[in-house]
Amino acid sequence: MDIVDHWLSGAPFEGESTRTAPVYDPALGLVAREVRLASAVDVDAAVAAASAAFPGWAETSLAKRQSVIFAFRELLNARKQELAEILTAEHGKVLSDALGEIARGLEVVEFATGMPHLLKGEYSENVSTGVDVYSTREPLGVVGIISPFNFPAMVPLWFFPIAIAAGNTVVLKPSEKDPSASVWMARLFQEAGLPDGVLNVVHGDKVAVDALLAHPRVASISFVGSTPIARYIYETGSAAGKRVQALGGAKNHMLVLPDADLDLAADAAVNAGFGSAGERCMAISVLVAVEPVADELVARIASRMSGLTVGDGRRSCDMGPLITREHRDKVAGYIDLATEDGATVVVDGRGIEVDGASDGFWLGPTLIDAVPTLSRVYTDEIFGPVLSVVRVASYEEGVELINAGAYGNGTAIFTNDGGAARRFQREVQVGMIGINVPIPVPVAYYSFGGWKDSLFGDTKAYGPDGFHFFTRQKAITRRWLDPSHAGLNLGFPENR
Ligand code: NAD
Repeated sequence: MDIVDHWLSGAPFEGESTRTAPVYDPALGLVAREVRLASAVDVDAAVAAASAAFPGWAETSLAKRQSVIFAFRELLNARKQELAEILTAEHGKVLSDALGEIARGLEVVEFATGMPHLLKGEYSENVSTGVDVYSTREPLGVVGIISPFNFPAMVPLWFFPIAIAAGNTVVLKPSEKDPSASVWMARLFQEAGLPDGVLNVVHGDKVAVDALLAHPRVASISFVGSTPIARYIYETGSAAGKRVQALGGAKNHMLVLPDADLDLAADAAVNAGFGSAGERCMAISVLVAVEPVADELVARIASRMSGLTVGDGRRSCDMGPLITREHRDKVAGYIDLATEDGATVVVDGRGIEVDGASDGFWLGPTLIDAVPTLSRVYTDEIFGPVLSVVRVASYEEGVELINAGAYGNGTAIFTNDGGAARRFQREVQVGMIGINVPIPVPVAYYSFGGWKDSLFGDTKAYGPDGFHFFTRQKAITRRWLDPSHAGLNLGFPENR
């Protein structure tokens, strides 16, 4: 059976650990290959590789670093189909969706090509007589990145292009559920001219994560995953003195006002609820319908769902399988729970017919109406193709519901009333907001991140926040010798 090796100093690396985990083909429901699970010693080897590469890379001129980032961008764009096929084979998302994920990752590579502009410091002349002050930004050193299964290419790409363009070296620990994309990208970066050791990939589970968190030569941790793990990463990494950004889970609400275009809203709910089988942190998982539109909206959504095709993402279909059998069963369990809690299952994805192998991890799109807000179907992040509907009497009740939730990743309002949308934008306690846009993932030159339990740390991913995260500032106060300023003065420096 094939095994996915680590990638260290520009070559495959087996490491000392003999532990492995299965990597599934979720559309076939079988183990396609194994992945190595690193020990602390293996993580130490990766950090040593990154540490050795750091001084040379940090000293490499901006012009040379940029030529490598540009070459990586060109190669990634030229070979994205190959990467998309890897994503579909290990994650299960349909090919067009995999290509969309890569396109959003490419945006960040393009942002990173502007690094020379970002690295320009500030300069103030003559702040005191004969004294100038200026600032520079420098890389942190070795940075750690820990990513989730649901975007095996895009989430690593949120971080490593910016980190590397800024002069850092990287140890990336991708999800062990779909590890091949990271190694493929590291190879491609090497082909683009990246020196060995600048981007290293270690595979693993909690053992590898804990080793990264504790390693004294790892300066920062960028984490994306579920909220309990994000909280653990933030607390443990911060206590170890590291800079940490930890993006967590979500439960995103879409508020539909009575004046909304109901066809637009129904299309958006279906696309954002069931794309990538609902395994997106920006998926819409709760539709909040302001009466009297709920009956009509539910009917329009259900009729669109009847046309969705579920199957092997390598063939032509709308939605693929879930990531593992356990996850599929867990998500399906919420549909049982919904019935027990008194909700109405309008469209039931259990037992759906699919265009694919019988053992695939299938669950069809599911629509549940009148979900009680005390039910775990409403409060938990389900992370599957399950869209809940909650009916409210007014805009105010809808916003109150959204703001009472634990998460604050994304939200959307559908309305034709500009004043209501503006009020929503100001009142809602959520980090990313769509106005008639269901999945408001900011472009690469803004930053991505939620509020509350969706982000631990004060720095979002990519864009200006990402640049700040991966660099630290020096401020220099400078005077060239001028005999007229000589003399003793023990007082605190004052500007004159
Ligand atoms: P996960 O939290 O299970 O895993 C994320 C990473 O943490 C993986 O690399 C995994 O190996 C590691 N990990 C798992 N258990 C660990 C433990 N006990 N200790 C230390 N490390 C551990 O998440 P997932 O299932 O891979 O991904 C789905 C989750 O990610 C969802 O909750 C989703 O909302 C979230 N997510 C959030 C964003 C965002 O931007 N906020 C983006 C994508 C995904």
